[in-house]
Amino acid sequence: MWVDSHAHLDTFESDGTWPDTWAQAQAAGVQTVIAIGGSTDANQRALAMARSNHDIYAVLGYDRDAVSATPDWDQLQQHLTASGVVGVGETGLDYHYGADQAGAQQALLERNLEAARAANLPVVIHTREAEDDTVSILRAHVATGQGIPDCPGVIHCFTGDAPFARRLLDLGFMISFSGIVTFKKSDALRAVLPSVPLDRLLIETDAPYCAPVPKRGKRNEPAFVAYVGECVAAELGMSVAELASQTTTNAQRLFRFTSAS
Ligand SMILES: [Zn+2]
Repeated sequence: MWVDSHAHLDTFESDGTWPDTWAQAQAAGVQTVIAIGGSTDANQRALAMARSNHDIYAVLGYDRDAVSATPDWDQLQQHLTASGVVGVGETGLDYHYGADQAGAQQALLERNLEAARAANLPVVIHTREAEDDTVSILRAHVATGQGIPDCPGVIHCFTGDAPFARRLLDLGFMISFSGIVTFKKSDALRAVLPSVPLDRLLIETDAPYCAPVPKRGKRNEPAFVAYVGECVAAELGMSVAELASQTTTNAQRLFRFTSAS
């Protein structure tokens, strides 16, 4: 059974395709999906989905594209205490898009981390072309020592190199691989896999984006996490069942949920 540790389910909920998408996911052996927020609207949809389905958990926060929005921090803090809410995010730094707003992105990330500490929740981090700033902000977060869970969070959709992974692992973070790891040109990324300890490894779809091979170019959905898992298992020389079991255990440890079904 699979856990999709990162999917933007609000997309499927808002266009009415979620019931079919969920049925497909279950048919593919997906037991649990972590529904990711990032804006007021996405947060509300993720929260509602977690409330109505015991196999869906929500991660709520304000992502870097919210730098020009007006986050409702009081409401977020309140929602973070709701049952079924298991983390803060996604949030982070992206200097590929929006390097001109680096300062505002950093301030927004730090405010999300503060909310996570107040709620004692792990964080789901996006990072692109912002390695040093990401590490230094996460290091300061962990160093506060207050409101930091045993595992402080995950770097989702990891696309960096082994030394970057090492710095994040040293801070206690998990590393999550998306469909990008299945792409033909991703040899360098696949080469990072063996350097991630098995108890720190997660897989995700990041649906509806970045569908894995052999669904590349299609709209991604949680059912396709199995393709990511099969690729990672083959690369690590593990059985698919072993990889599924290990990544499920890791997701449960990070997000502190027990399987409902
Ligand atoms: Zn995402």
